[in-house]
Amino acid sequence: MNYSEVASKYAQLEGISGRNEMTKVLAELLKAAPKAELAQLVYLTQGKLRPDYEGVELGLAEKLALRALASASGLSQEKVYATYVKHGDLGTAAEDLLSNRNQGTLFSEGLTLRRVYETLLRIAKQSGSGSVDAKLKELVSLLNDGSPLEAKFIMRTVTGQLRLGVADYTVLDAAATAFLGGKEARGDAERAYNVHPDLGHVVETAASKGPKGIGEIAVQVGVPIRPMLAERLSSAADIVRKMGDKPVTAEYKLDGERLQIHRVGDDVRLFSRRLEVITSHYPDAGDLVRKHVSAKRAILEAEVVAINEDTGEYLPFQELMHRRRKHGIEQAIADYPVALNFFDMLLAGQSDLTGKPYTVRRKRLEQAVEQTDRTRLVPAKTTSAPADIEGFMEEAIANGCEGLVVKDPASTYRAGAREFAWIKLKREYRSELTDTIDLVIIGGFHGRGRRAGNYGTYLLGTFDGKRSIYTSVAKVGTGFSDEDLRKLPALLKPFESHVKPPGVESEMVPDVWFRPHLVIEIIAAELTLSPIHTAAMGRVRPGAGISLRFPKFTGKLRDDKSPEDATSVEEIVAMYNRQTKKIGP
Ligand code: ATP
Repeated sequence: MNYSEVASKYAQLEGISGRNEMTKVLAELLKAAPKAELAQLVYLTQGKLRPDYEGVELGLAEKLALRALASASGLSQEKVYATYVKHGDLGTAAEDLLSNRNQGTLFSEGLTLRRVYETLLRIAKQSGSGSVDAKLKELVSLLNDGSPLEAKFIMRTVTGQLRLGVADYTVLDAAATAFLGGKEARGDAERAYNVHPDLGHVVETAASKGPKGIGEIAVQVGVPIRPMLAERLSSAADIVRKMGDKPVTAEYKLDGERLQIHRVGDDVRLFSRRLEVITSHYPDAGDLVRKHVSAKRAILEAEVVAINEDTGEYLPFQELMHRRRKHGIEQAIADYPVALNFFDMLLAGQSDLTGKPYTVRRKRLEQAVEQTDRTRLVPAKTTSAPADIEGFMEEAIANGCEGLVVKDPASTYRAGAREFAWIKLKREYRSELTDTIDLVIIGGFHGRGRRAGNYGTYLLGTFDGKRSIYTSVAKVGTGFSDEDLRKLPALLKPFESHVKPPGVESEMVPDVWFRPHLVIEIIAAELTLSPIHTAAMGRVRPGAGISLRFPKFTGKLRDDKSPEDATSVEEIVAMYNRQTKKIGP
């Protein structure tokens, strides 16, 4: 397939905001592609090269992309930079500059989808000495052989800024329309995607094997499953009522890191909540699983928590951060011991357990895990009495937990869903305080005094999934330790942007913008309406967004969450509505 065909469809998609129209155009694009190239097309359309869990990252530094553009256009770096600033977008700058390039390149070979894909893959995979020059050369060759419109999308893709606004679910809609007989089949494609979150694979299967093939996509050891998530309610009584006034099972909500553990024999692989491979963070977890889990082929879920070795007590989440290092892992394992706290089992031997009720999965878990100091089952209590649940929550908090996750005993494992089959209950929900929320850093303001030379305040955003953009929600300057103030700028450096990044909506203009990447945890006194912040603009009151009163950094970096996983606009609206119900308008 020619890349020009892809680029012109991208240009069309860019101008569409309605989901139905977008699905239609996307379905045409999918149908036009040869089956063997479909997966590549799907990854590229999402600005990716492989499914997220394989960790192949696009994201060439802005500086390097500008150098490539200077080379391809034959113009000075200054001129290229000025054009970039004028347009505020690398893609448009490339299109503009390359439209004026001299005739010679008109006789170029033309680009195929396959060549673009394979070149970008090589760029993403190159590292080490000499890699900068090699990447530059690869990119320049694409820009030389492509039309201005193709260059526009290549530049955006290679820097990780292709934002066509095509959500995963829109791709599934389009695949259902193109290959499964209509949009009604979306549910089947979605189920397949939730248990096997490789969109390229799902679309390719739909095209080559139809509905039957989609139905056969199953849980597979080695491929992470999208995690089941929990809703929130503010009292035990509400939870019992919501679950139908029958016995429910409350579990401790431990404050650690979620692990999805995949095991075949001695091979143990760990995935994070955002489905990244994190096996190397916890080599000791692998040993614990090999020693104390009887099932040789299994997918399990556990919360890994740092513990005090002498007393067995749980320690705060921050302790776990000492395990995030490349060197000295052995020492860190000894200094910061952890326990695995199992709470679910999704596969045992050849049986997929995701369709079984919670009670069955918990029983299988009990049979599979030998309980030791380091391998535990999350404490659970089954009851229909709200007072018992409240009491159990106090006990959990006294034992260093955040609260409870209450589970409907009849519920299956709903991969990828945040529903009321699991409900979180924390003490904060009962006061005026809102829960902690996870927000994306989108900008920084230079600091003064003690903070001179660093950022003193950060601008935070929240993801608006419906529009596929980040909206500003608050500025935060408190809660940062001196170490945080030093560390954060280094972490953010690769995402600095001289112009407002595409996909960010903010009236407030910080000194430096950041492309949405880093997620931090924030606690605030309450949610308020704001004329400046754009989060949930007009949703509660015309002309007003939602913001936070007295936001404070909790000290927790949520690098287990991708920016899309940060607290969403929808959740913020729901929290706001709950709050006004409780404390009055
Ligand atoms: P939070 O920000 O409150 O930690 P989250 O957005 O990361 O929540 P949620 O689905 O809202 O994710 O809450 C579930 C999380 O709680 C899980 O991802 C897991 O890490 C953690 N957890 C701790 N104990 C349990 C448990 N017993 N069952 C399920 N999840 C648990």
